[in-house]
Amino acid sequence: MSTELKGLHPIEPADGEAAEDRFIRVQGLRTHNLKNIDLKLPRDQLVVITGISGSGKSSLAFDSLYAEGQRRYIESLSSYARQFLEQMPRPDCDRITGLPPTIAIQQQASVAGAQSTVATATEMYDFLRLLFARVGAPHCPKCGTEIHHQTLEQIVAFLSDLGAGTRITLLAPLVRGRKGHYRELFDKIRSEGYVRARIDGHLRDLDEVVRLERYKTHDIDVVVDRLVIKGDSTRLVDSLQTALNAGNGVCIALQQDGQEHLFNQRFACVNCGVGIEEPTPNLFSFNSPYGRCPQCNGRGAVDRFDEELIVPRPELSLSEGAIEPFESWGRRTGRRLVENVLALADRLGVDRRAPFRTIEPARRRAILEGDGLPDARPGKNEAVIPSFQRLLDSSESEHTRARLMRYVSPIPCPACKGARLRREALAVTVGGKNIYEVTRMSITECLSFLDSLSFAGAHRIIARPILKEIKSRLGFLVEVGLHYLTADRPTNTLSTGEAQRTRLGTQIGSSLTGVCYILDEPSIGLHHRDHSKLLDALEELRDMGNSVLVIEHDETTIRRADWVVDLGPGAGRDGGQVVFNGPLGVMLKEARGLTAQYLTGARAIPLPARRRRPARGRELRIIGAREHNLKGINVAFPLGLFICITGVSGSGKSSLVTDILLRALRRALYGSPEKPGRHERIEGIQHVDKVLEIDQSPIGKTPRSTPATYTHVFDEIRRVFASTKQAQVRGYSASRFSFNSRRGRCEVCSGMGQKRIEMNFLPDMQVECEACHGSRYNEETLQVTLRGRSIADVLAMTVEEALEFFRNYPSIERRLRTMRDVGIGYLTLGQPSTTLSGGEAQRIKLARELGKIPTGSTLYCLDEPTTGLHLDDIGKLLSTLHSLVDMGNTVIVIEHNLEVIKNADYVIDLGPEGGDEGGRLVAAGTPEQVVSSSASHTGRALRTVLQRHSMT
Ligand code: ADP
Ligand code: ADP
Ligand code: ZN
Ligand code: ZN
Repeated sequence: MSTELKGLHPIEPADGEAAEDRFIRVQGLRTHNLKNIDLKLPRDQLVVITGISGSGKSSLAFDSLYAEGQRRYIESLSSYARQFLEQMPRPDCDRITGLPPTIAIQQQASVAGAQSTVATATEMYDFLRLLFARVGAPHCPKCGTEIHHQTLEQIVAFLSDLGAGTRITLLAPLVRGRKGHYRELFDKIRSEGYVRARIDGHLRDLDEVVRLERYKTHDIDVVVDRLVIKGDSTRLVDSLQTALNAGNGVCIALQQDGQEHLFNQRFACVNCGVGIEEPTPNLFSFNSPYGRCPQCNGRGAVDRFDEELIVPRPELSLSEGAIEPFESWGRRTGRRLVENVLALADRLGVDRRAPFRTIEPARRRAILEGDGLPDARPGKNEAVIPSFQRLLDSSESEHTRARLMRYVSPIPCPACKGARLRREALAVTVGGKNIYEVTRMSITECLSFLDSLSFAGAHRIIARPILKEIKSRLGFLVEVGLHYLTADRPTNTLSTGEAQRTRLGTQIGSSLTGVCYILDEPSIGLHHRDHSKLLDALEELRDMGNSVLVIEHDETTIRRADWVVDLGPGAGRDGGQVVFNGPLGVMLKEARGLTAQYLTGARAIPLPARRRRPARGRELRIIGAREHNLKGINVAFPLGLFICITGVSGSGKSSLVTDILLRALRRALYGSPEKPGRHERIEGIQHVDKVLEIDQSPIGKTPRSTPATYTHVFDEIRRVFASTKQAQVRGYSASRFSFNSRRGRCEVCSGMGQKRIEMNFLPDMQVECEACHGSRYNEETLQVTLRGRSIADVLAMTVEEALEFFRNYPSIERRLRTMRDVGIGYLTLGQPSTTLSGGEAQRIKLARELGKIPTGSTLYCLDEPTTGLHLDDIGKLLSTLHSLVDMGNTVIVIEHNLEVIKNADYVIDLGPEGGDEGGRLVAAGTPEQVVSSSASHTGRALRTVLQRHSMT
């Protein structure tokens, strides 16, 4: 496939190296924090690059090796092609040799459009469309009758096969089940020379027929010819042609024994005459104007006002404000709308003081939707939703529209019922299912459906290679543990790990060899149980003759590596050196570096000294959770504990926590308009007064954002500068010390400290601003100092240095300390956010949330916080989380990492499997209790870890 070839460049000439040198060699590499390193990596092996976060792993794998591979690929193209491609800078390096073409499979969500699905991303959908176009059975979109169609040659062949000597009558159908006397029709066909017709099932001479009964329905077929099948088919072909013309592409062959054969040359319904076009692959594309549903434009959903959002608290009565939008409205409009509805209620005989819930359903619908209100008109007797709709359609004000849109949710498109395709496309079936029904199956179901298909004749030959392509793609998704996904799942709803593994599956399916694959933490989101599957997939890539380079912290992966690169020893300035580079066995023997020490057990994350006990009555309870695959479960979250949500991927963890719990809490606490996932109710919300969420979405990606600005510590530092004598004398306020303020910043670079130079054919370059020398500020601002340091000097400090410098400023200290505690003490306060590694960005976010003053009833929720973290970093993270819980707060973590799980006070294990076979509560309790649950996959993995502790 052309898209897969994009990441390739031709293998370079041997470059003086012996051809059998099976190594990628790097000399003098200085990208970012890398300290002029030399390195050799074996080709066609599984190489794991590890080291603490910020040590330089991505700088090596992505910013050097992958970037160089891309650059060489682009150089190999014609200058015409090059002008359309983004130029990659040459990595800061003396020499790289032996590098195969590179393909990166990164974590970040794909750039594909919002309409991309698992089926389209794996290209399985392209083959499915082909299958449906070539061997699908079209049906009439109106009456559902199957439409068969044959070419003239096929019809002739069929009739010849009946055997020489067979007598047949050829008929052309003219009228089907329609009323009329048909006198003119009979006159016309008589004048064309026809003498017989089959009328309502009886063969009759046309002489005898003048007209039919006018008010009855009739079937009329004219007899075109009667003939005997012979070796020479000239007459047959002529007559068939005539019959097909007369019958508008349809004709009937009647045998003497009464057997009847219907032939259809066109794609038209023999029953109601509706013609369709011959299916093409495009007909099944919801991205094509030709295939997509015209009502929703292929989105599958349309927006509707939603009763649940309009009446979020049905226990209130109308006069108490059950209709929420009215309450938040401007006083005048709100008042008028309320009057209106109250009047309507009176008229319908509804008690304004009765809880909305208790109003009889038909009347409730009348109030909300106006059902059965014939005399409603704008402003008078108008139901709630029609009045909103009218406002939405007529209002010019963005504000009003935005306010109304809060009460809208998407519902499945009434035309296509969410299938996104037009009727004609959905009327084509294979094995009795339309293409939408096939993509709604889970990968496992889909495979067994395809296996059950059988085709006859030419269809079998056409279908075989197409089916093979589809099945191999599905097979790879199963191999990487994604069997539970449905093919129609939008890729933008996949977790990062699922998305990366989908792409991995696609790559394995493409069967390339001689390539260097580079992956970033493929184990993210993967349960321990499925790890070996993923590693099998990586080894398969390797065994096909590829080099596989994986950035990974996970112990299981490291232990299966052929070769390990350990970077460090520290992060940022303190990292960027090669601590170990060689085969795994040697690393374990020499036990050099942090990673080796954790692997050999010389270092370990300790078990907590004691587990906290739940306090009676202080808990959140979700009752009847049913979002996605959740099976109506009840789950209790004991507050004031460190809680881990576990379970294999796809078991329902995010559905429970992110979709139900967090949305419900945000709604209750902050009036957020999002609709929580399906559940009956949640008890105990009153015990929580604040929720803080730390997920994996990136932080503001502009060079104006830095660790200091993002965590808000810079606001306070600026205030300190403004309070100095010098600043007061000059009348400088805190805003003067912002590199965004016109007064304070260097005007040459607008406070960026750098300037972009456009180089025509070369990549743009960033150079230090010659006016401020990169300090971002103007001369006057820099003259103000605090104990000898200017504001620019402070931005150049690392977090550790700043902590020392601001020792006597408690609120600055508190924020800086949280930054240090989450392990980013080595970052400078002014490093642009755009240059932070993924793990660093996540921890800045963590630091910002943790730096907020906890209330003691705050609920923190973290989604896989170990992403990008080395075991050593995880240890630091855990102590931060424990200290939050010690202050009485609750921490809920969705996590697969066993080192984190073993630290939890309380584990909620979902499963047992992913997808439909998941969504149940498998076990809940202390890690020790979960270990004793035989059904729990998590318990089994955890047992080994806990046993390790009891042995030492
Ligand atoms: P890892 O992948 O090991 O977590 P990275 O290779 O992403 O670490 O980063 C190594 C160090 O280089 C970090 O301190 C990071 O902040 C720094 N860094 C990364 N990208 C840039 C850049 N574009 N400019 C300056 N420093 C960078
Ligand atoms: P986990 O967080 O445990 O990996 P999820 O809660 O994400 O699991 O998924 C549980 C199930 O719900 C899976 O079968 C998944 O495919 C399905 N699912 C999750 N999100 C969506 C969605 N947006 N649309 C349809 N199905 C979804
Ligand atoms: Zn539609
Ligand atoms: Zn400047």
